[in-house]
Amino acid sequence: MPEKTFYDEIVECLRLTRRGTPAVTVSEEVMKEFMTDIPRRPSAEPEAPETSYIPPAPVSPADPVNPPPAASPAGMSLSKGFSAADIAGMNWEELSAAVAGCRACKLCTTRKNTVFGSGNREAKLLFFGEGPGADEDAQGLPFVGRAGELLTKMINAMQFSREEVFICNTIKCRPPNNRNPEPDETEACRAYAERQIELVKPEVIVILGSVALRFLFPNVYGGIRSLRGKWLEYRGIKVMPTYHPAYLLRNPASKAETWKDLQQVMTCFGKNPQPRRH
Ligand code: URA
Repeated sequence: MPEKTFYDEIVECLRLTRRGTPAVTVSEEVMKEFMTDIPRRPSAEPEAPETSYIPPAPVSPADPVNPPPAASPAGMSLSKGFSAADIAGMNWEELSAAVAGCRACKLCTTRKNTVFGSGNREAKLLFFGEGPGADEDAQGLPFVGRAGELLTKMINAMQFSREEVFICNTIKCRPPNNRNPEPDETEACRAYAERQIELVKPEVIVILGSVALRFLFPNVYGGIRSLRGKWLEYRGIKVMPTYHPAYLLRNPASKAETWKDLQQVMTCFGKNPQPRRH
């Protein structure tokens, strides 16, 4: 049998609802928003040249009285770093200060801003992305570009608001030319992301794309295509991998699959919104 399209699914949901059979669905307006293409924006600015990188000094213990300095200008040498054990013991303020001042990898020389994460620090639902792009680098906030617009639509289609959930990334600094982060960069950021997840303690994590998937599950066989829509577990937290919104911008037909993944997450929170027809 041919696979059902998103529209087949919606029609079926409406039919089931009319018959009084509960189905996970959502208002037509919100779904239309999610399915509508987001126009391209003019590109933000020319790329910053890569500057020379001076590797970090040996790690020193966390000092809660004198937290690390705020983000320093690109090109400056590193004066301080934290060990994974230091970071694992940090509270929110210490952690965000440590990220802001981080010079643990070469991305610190080209970034404009670190991008820590945003949203509800006690969220039940956490979205875990890849890393900042140009807009995020400029604003110091996650998912504020075109992919971010689509992520907001995904969150709204799930009947959540951005303020209710927590959003963060695998890496906190933008890789030049939006290339994928390199292994030394993701590893330099590992302890920050792990501590963020530990502090939020969400019930569910939605993994956005293959970089985030590989980061949290380095030993699980399969890529995002084969693992999306399948529940995984990370340190006792339920995890749903799905496509990255930037991928969905390039491949809107895959939104239907993503919507199925997100519906599974909605059921965890007892969300069963009926379609509202106007
Ligand atoms: N893509 C990501 O993975 N994260 C962002 O914050 C923005 C785009």
